[in-house]
Amino acid sequence: MANILIIGAGGVGSVVAHKCAQAARRGGALERVTLASRTLSRCESVARSVRTRTGFAMDTAQTDADNVAELCGLLRAVKPDVVCNVALPYQDLSIMEACLECGAHYVDTANYEPPDTAKFEYSWQWAYADRFREAGLTALLGSGFDPGVTNVFAAWVMKHELDEVHVLDIIDCNAGDHGLPFATNFNPEINIREVTARGRYWERGEWVETDPLAFSMDYDFPDGIGRKKCFLLYHEELESLVTNLNGLRRARFWMTFSENYLNHLKVLGNVGLTGIAPVRFQGRDIVPVQFLAALLPDPASLGPLTKGKTCIGNRMRGIRDGREKTVYIYNVCDHEACYAEVGSQAISYTTGVPAMIGTKLVAEGVWARPGVWNMEQFDPDPFMDDLDEYGLPWRCDALP
Ligand code: NDP
Repeated sequence: MANILIIGAGGVGSVVAHKCAQAARRGGALERVTLASRTLSRCESVARSVRTRTGFAMDTAQTDADNVAELCGLLRAVKPDVVCNVALPYQDLSIMEACLECGAHYVDTANYEPPDTAKFEYSWQWAYADRFREAGLTALLGSGFDPGVTNVFAAWVMKHELDEVHVLDIIDCNAGDHGLPFATNFNPEINIREVTARGRYWERGEWVETDPLAFSMDYDFPDGIGRKKCFLLYHEELESLVTNLNGLRRARFWMTFSENYLNHLKVLGNVGLTGIAPVRFQGRDIVPVQFLAALLPDPASLGPLTKGKTCIGNRMRGIRDGREKTVYIYNVCDHEACYAEVGSQAISYTTGVPAMIGTKLVAEGVWARPGVWNMEQFDPDPFMDDLDEYGLPWRCDALP
């Protein structure tokens, strides 16, 4: 029976905690769960909600995950089999170090970012592969929705629907509305750094760079969502997928944004509030985007306000039995249904459910293999079964 330590009690951490409790109540491998974060009161509030909704009692702890020695103290006390990191990408490397030192498997949902450079890539975490392999430990990277489910969707299509893939478009639509003038649906600092970065896509063996949000397309989403404008962004799963999917000629990532969101972002950028370089203000250094994040609504507070659906999936074109074939594989998730179930909006839900599933599959030994891995490197079938089981049903349609 497995002992799980969740680090980070924000919007995503709360969903992981509720879903681990559901899995434990269903009699699977998860038995003991501890939720730790920088602010203990947030852990306690989540643990109360979990107990009320599921009857499952979890432990809580305070920790600063930037501090490896402090983390090791926590890991030695809790003795987790798997650590599920849903704090911020800045903590990835310190948590991986602590897992190696204390002998725990590692799962996260976002790749490492250095705080002082708006840049994310897998190189820092892939560099740990030998150390995890030699320690006999598994590190599973990017077990959220995108990255995460989108990687598993790609692997499933390659196993069951296509012999070769030539074009991959990952399309992320949030058609939800929280009614507030401006808010981000996951951590504001990480979200704004991602959206204001230069775009990048893969074409015929090389990366092509674009200005931020320079390309857009209209896409007609299923389930009554309808046509939405989607913008080309660089997203981290592209890096591993172009390495692990053979034959890809083009890979792109698209995300919908409302006019209102983009207008706010433009003005905030123009006045310098999205910057990450420290600014001297009244005798102390302030990072503008961190100050802005402190002013914006906490993503976890959007749950009761948000109505509408998300639709995230992959459109993949390739060859099956010698003929051209295109498929669209996707999940539709309803914000209000997520709130009713676990008290969170759908962005936290669609990230937290796969984070729990990845953690569970590593804990059960189904996805355990010493080393550092991306999601598409494991058999997709057990993960896809668990998506249906734990609240993210999916469909795969052949497109004309
Ligand atoms: P939140 O800001 O809501 O929560 C982050 C939590 O981490 C907070 O509780 C915070 O504590 C805690 N934390 C921050 N720094 C530390 C630290 N040094 N030590 C311990 N705890 C710390 O973010 P979200 O829940 O929205 O996002 C969580 C993660 O999920 C992020 O990495 C994000 O990039 C990722 N994500 C991935 C997605 C995917 O599909 N793959 C989609 C959406 C998000 P405190 O409350 O004290 O500040």
